[in-house]
Amino acid sequence: MTDLRTHAAEIAEQFSDHLDVSTDEVEERLERLVSEYRVPVEEARRSVVNSYLDEAGIDRDELGGGGAGGNEQTLLNDIDQDEQWVDVRAKVVDLWEPRSDSISQVGLLGDESGRMKFVAFTTSELPELEEGKSYALGNVVTDEYQGNFSVKLNRTTSITELDEEIEVGDDSTDVEGALVDIQSGSGLIKRCPEEDCTRVLQNGRCSEHGNVEGEFDLRIKAVLDDGDEVHEVIFNREMTEELTGIELDEAKQMAMDALDTTIVEEEMRGDLVGYYYRVTGPTFGRYVLANEVERLSDPTDAEELLVKARSM
Ligand SMILES: [Zn+2]
Repeated sequence: MTDLRTHAAEIAEQFSDHLDVSTDEVEERLERLVSEYRVPVEEARRSVVNSYLDEAGIDRDELGGGGAGGNEQTLLNDIDQDEQWVDVRAKVVDLWEPRSDSISQVGLLGDESGRMKFVAFTTSELPELEEGKSYALGNVVTDEYQGNFSVKLNRTTSITELDEEIEVGDDSTDVEGALVDIQSGSGLIKRCPEEDCTRVLQNGRCSEHGNVEGEFDLRIKAVLDDGDEVHEVIFNREMTEELTGIELDEAKQMAMDALDTTIVEEEMRGDLVGYYYRVTGPTFGRYVLANEVERLSDPTDAEELLVKARSM
């Protein structure tokens, strides 16, 4: 088969459940774009697929990838585009409790390059992945949300358990420096209680769900200056409690006594800014997610450091 013919056959196969479209017909459309209009093959393919998606009235998500193994084998850390069909070989590092009936499994996959969230949907009726086992996953779709990537398993995803165990790379980093600032949205915060939504509320409002009765949580978004560059570090509730010695109940009490939740952030700022810390944890987007922290030494002149950090 020619290159175009192969593409055409894959596209026809992708749409076989949705449209009555033959390989010949697809090939003809590709041929016209490539020969007459000098469109690169990949672009022609995308354009033809899009027009069939319109015709079928379906989303790309509902479409097969044209047969497992037909995609590029990708390392998790190399995923940097939305809506790409890829094949990965990965170990199931962690399984989480799905927060919605529409999700059958959610958790973390890992390979030599790092870790990435995955989601499988109930409607896909896939066999369950087991924690600790390694799989070849064909035809998964990449997804991007606020700069963070994940992969979605779908009904065309092929799942093959591997005999070998995939080594999971350690993608955690080490940052050592002065804590020069605590960003707003730190301290005692409220999160949206809706399923699958943990957005931090602004004035009692979730950007997705509007006014909701929030759930209290603790977190710190801190800026660490290592003398060379600044790093944004997120401490979750557990790490915030460890770092500040202030537990959630205590923080709630402080806020109630003062009739003001921002008092918690102010208190934490006073306790932390100007001290040197070593933080270890994975990077997530532009943040380091602290899962170990150690205070290193005496405080320095925070004002001076802050000026320096902001001038970079
Ligand atoms: Zn929400």
